[in-house]
Amino acid sequence: MIFKKRIQVFRLIVQAFFMAGLVVPWLPHSEPVDKWLLWVVPVVGVFFCGWVCPFGTAQEWIAWIARKLHLPRLQIPWKFQKYLQVSRYIWTALIFFIGVHYAFLNARFYFNNSLLTWTSGLIFAAFLLFGLFIDRPFCNYFCPKGAMEGILSIVRPISIKRDNNACIHCRLCDKICPMNVRVEHTDFVRHPNCINCMKCIDICPEKCLAFRLMQFKKKRENDE
Ligand code: SF4
Ligand code: SF4
Ligand code: SF4
Repeated sequence: MIFKKRIQVFRLIVQAFFMAGLVVPWLPHSEPVDKWLLWVVPVVGVFFCGWVCPFGTAQEWIAWIARKLHLPRLQIPWKFQKYLQVSRYIWTALIFFIGVHYAFLNARFYFNNSLLTWTSGLIFAAFLLFGLFIDRPFCNYFCPKGAMEGILSIVRPISIKRDNNACIHCRLCDKICPMNVRVEHTDFVRHPNCINCMKCIDICPEKCLAFRLMQFKKKRENDE
């Protein structure tokens, strides 16, 4: 069985629906949906990227094919990853504060709006090719849209909570995360990279990850 968990089957259906919206005129397009989903980002985090965005979906499907073909995946050590992760925020800052011309790189925009020219086709083909070896390369390192929504999501009071008492620290959650969030290192996921794909919840053998409302620790009476 390809997808063991119902939530992943449901997510796949939603992703396929919006992917089809790129070519079937009577199906809804992803961009207006994004405007609605933006309102829930400060409450429950980013859902557009993990469920709707066709370019994110394309990168995910490419990674799935690569794994089925047993292509070698590039594992970037965390000591480099933590610096690389900053790159999409640097792009965002350069675009907004210095006015860097980013259009030539905006594979998401070309793909999601079906703007197929030689240049745009080459750019998103390059990212999809890169996606054969690394998870969601555009989302992780280049997308200003993902970066902005990610920043907005860090205040969310509802997110994935890890039960440290039940956790066996197997780190399967870290390994499956396509956005390089270190789930095992946190009690409550509010990392800006999280796209709510729920893969970490599904893979956890101890079922110690779940969507919860953040609980603020009460100050103990004998604390000074
Ligand atoms: S990070 Fe950008 S390309 Fe990736 S899923 Fe989100 S909006 Fe789409
Ligand atoms: S997959 Fe579950 S048990 Fe394993 S480290 Fe992550 S939270 Fe802990
Ligand atoms: S932390 Fe979990 S839900 Fe968030 S992106 Fe990673 S695997 Fe998906």
